[in-house]
Amino acid sequence: MAYQISDECIACGACADGCPANAISEGDGKYVIDADTCIDCGACAGTCPVGAPQAQ
Ligand code: SF4
Ligand code: SF4
Repeated sequence: MAYQISDECIACGACADGCPANAISEGDGKYVIDADTCIDCGACAGTCPVGAPQAQ
């Protein structure tokens, strides 16, 4: 299980700064989570202003 970032992402970068596992990087027009690195902590979901990171 891992979090995924939906197309709602406005590429603000806040989630990447707060991810304890460094699993989030800037992708093409939005940020993306590396599923193999994500430890499923949920911090990004709490940080995101638009609710883009969602548990899968
Ligand atoms: Fe990083 Fe936690 Fe979000 Fe996974 S759930 S991407 S570990 S902040
Ligand atoms: Fe995208 Fe939300 Fe992360 Fe900002 S905090 S880069 S809007 S997923």
